[in-house]
Amino acid sequence: MNNERSHTIRQEIIALLENAPMTAREISQAVRIMEKDVPHHLAAIQKTVKRRKLRLEVTPCCCRNCGFEFRQRNTFKKPGKCPGCKNPRIVSAIFRVVP
Ligand SMILES: [Zn+2]
Repeated sequence: MNNERSHTIRQEIIALLENAPMTAREISQAVRIMEKDVPHHLAAIQKTVKRRKLRLEVTPCCCRNCGFEFRQRNTFKKPGKCPGCKNPRIVSAIFRVVP
């Protein structure tokens, strides 16, 4: 993927997240990219929005079984399983761009 295309995708994602909170899957479908590429774009977006006095707000992933929240994660990737109860059913993080 070239830089120009990446730049356009990020602008589209920022516009979407300013309007409504979305999960990585929803973002991937909205801008037609692979879900596995979303964390990479979000990391770049986090820096871009900071320069515009905006903030990428993250509602962390949590375990569907025990409710454990993945607050310490500094990556945007969805965890494979819960460190507490080892349950693989993880509720997706939700991303939003706020002032
Ligand atoms: Zn759990």
